[in-house]
Amino acid sequence: MKHDIFVVIEHLQGQVLEISYVMLAAAHKLAEKTGGEVIAILLGHDGRALADDLATDRVIYLDHPALAEFTPDAYLAALVALVTAERPRAVLLGHTSIGMDVASGLSARLALPLVSQCKSVASSNGSLQFTSQICGGKIMAEGDFPEGTLLLTMLPGGFKPEDGRSSERPELMMADPPPLEDLRVSLLQYIEPEAGDVDISEEPILIAVGRGMQNEDNLELVQELADALDGEICASRPIVDLGWLPTSRMVGKSGRSVKPKLYLALGISGAPEHIEGITDSDLLIAVNSDPAAPIFDIAQFGAEIDMFDLVESLVEQIEEAKGG
Ligand SMILES: Cc1cc2nc3c(=O)[nH]c(=O)nc-3n(C[C@H](O)[C@H](O)[C@H](O)COP(=O)(O)OP(=O)(O)OC[C@H]3O[C@@H](n4cnc5c(N)ncnc54)[C@H](O)[C@@H]3O)c2cc1C
Repeated sequence: MKHDIFVVIEHLQGQVLEISYVMLAAAHKLAEKTGGEVIAILLGHDGRALADDLATDRVIYLDHPALAEFTPDAYLAALVALVTAERPRAVLLGHTSIGMDVASGLSARLALPLVSQCKSVASSNGSLQFTSQICGGKIMAEGDFPEGTLLLTMLPGGFKPEDGRSSERPELMMADPPPLEDLRVSLLQYIEPEAGDVDISEEPILIAVGRGMQNEDNLELVQELADALDGEICASRPIVDLGWLPTSRMVGKSGRSVKPKLYLALGISGAPEHIEGITDSDLLIAVNSDPAAPIFDIAQFGAEIDMFDLVESLVEQIEEAKGG
């Protein structure tokens, strides 16, 4: 058993995804305690450059055409071989579509414990601890790392992505992937979802509404705010499921990932499936009447207030400022 912390780097279409940097930041925290190294595991093809800005002691790079883009079979086969050989103290994967797919398979194949939806990791009194945000973000479950290798799927919000980036290129070691033939799944084509009436993934100002909006009629007021800010409305999944807005406006795991300059979240709790789509926002402001809403953990600014007390006067003030 080694003391190293593995981080499985997620990338899509030639871009390292933000969650990878969050995980590297978390891994450094753990490695400080274990005395091991932070090792980034990069699976890809002709993709060495993806490692250039990773803040890690070392990169282990497995290069194979079958690893060019994520497929569950190929990633699982590669990671089963690597984790079996190296036996790290912990393996961090994203709590994302990719990470969840692989982590559960890895846990089953290697009979390793798995903590999912992990928000934070820490150490005290000689042991390592995790905090997992379960039940859609409503319960924080804390526990000690068990002995042996622990798998964790990490949520954004507990660590700053900038702490996982480095201006120095890390040491990179090539490793041979296991045989990757006879895979059941291969990528034929990457299809972008249709943009719909508005492509929210390209909009710089987004006013996002959640179940706190209470009824469809209140959309009118939110639309006034969006108009005043020259922004567009988007929503959490329940609003789309209720048929109040079209699917093209849904943000999150089942919807679009957005990267606006401003994401103003009104009455959205901050469930992991929603957060997954908004971590690339430049500025995230949350308005929620519940001070314990998980959205406040990742928002740069937050207002613990009834959204209806705010929206109307905000519209008035913006209009006034514009008029002035
Ligand atoms: C496989 C899967 C995929 C999913 N994909 C997505 C996805 O893509 N996108 C997504 O959004 N969800 C997705 N979900 C659902 C997700 O788990 C949550 O249920 C959903 O995000 C919750 O939406 P919400 O925050 O609007 O509602 P809630 O969780 O009900 O939160 C409503 C919030 O409004 C606040 N509130 C109430 N009244 C007011 C008021 N007057 N003023 C201010 N605040 C108020 C409450 O305090 C609360 O925090 C998915 C779930 C699963 C299982």
